[in-house]
Amino acid sequence: MGRRSAVVVGGGSGIGAACARLLAGAGWSVTAGDVRFADPGAPEGIVQVTADATSPDAMAELVRRADAVAPVRGLVYSAGIERHGSAVTTDPAVWDVTHDVNLKGAYLAARAAVPVMAAHGGGSIAVISSIQGLATQKGVAAYAAAKAGAFGLVRAMALDHARDGVRVNAVAPGTIDTPLVRQNAAEMTPDDPERALREWADMHALGRIGRPEEVASVVAFLLSDDASFVTGATWVVDGGLTAAY
Ligand code: NAP
Repeated sequence: MGRRSAVVVGGGSGIGAACARLLAGAGWSVTAGDVRFADPGAPEGIVQVTADATSPDAMAELVRRADAVAPVRGLVYSAGIERHGSAVTTDPAVWDVTHDVNLKGAYLAARAAVPVMAAHGGGSIAVISSIQGLATQKGVAAYAAAKAGAFGLVRAMALDHARDGVRVNAVAPGTIDTPLVRQNAAEMTPDDPERALREWADMHALGRIGRPEEVASVVAFLLSDDASFVTGATWVVDGGLTAAY
């Protein structure tokens, strides 16, 4: 493969960091943007850039910096926050920030990346949504709505940019062992967060929660030429969670 760049928004932690590592290992020049880096010593092949996904200028600058290293042909959008509340108990400001980070940022990153990819002959975008956008639970109204919105955005972008050679897919993970999930467990079951993690593991047919690398491997496939006829689709990576009701 010739030199090419992948931009990983939310690449400082969890699933995004695993995507950055795997893509770098597969020969991509990776530029990771995040508001915070869990591992501030950038691993080999990864440039770390502090970038707020909700800022149009920051997303444009992130893509520009990546393209200066090598032509941008890949984008992974993994920035996310989960906030709790029903439609009644969710503060409007919390609704907005949840949608800004989980949904609007994906549009802003793609808005910056698609023209650059098109100029290079095409590329591939993977948006990390969630199974919470397909089926959900109580008390996550803003998050579930934003994640469902991401599926619509992915389908729209897949159609709009297919003839520019840009493929766009959504990834819907089940419960994955990341700081976000451990924070959720601590908030929901402060007396015994490990119990919450065990209960969530039991809900997955495979009897465990997933590892960030198990999502990253699907993302790496979607960004690769092996996925050349794959666009507009949702890739469920949930250990069988949504196979049951
Ligand atoms: P994570 O470890 O918290 O990683 C998400 C990263 O996004 C964090 O570094 C976070 O920074 C960053 N971020 C937050 N706001 C941002 C902003 N405005 N601009 C740029 N970066 C920002 O969580 P994760 O579990 O890997 O989540 C990655 C994606 O997968 C999210 O979209 C999440 O909703 C989705 N997902 C996760 C699971 C799961 O079980 N883990 C399941 C389904 C879907 P801070 O830590 O400072 O907030």
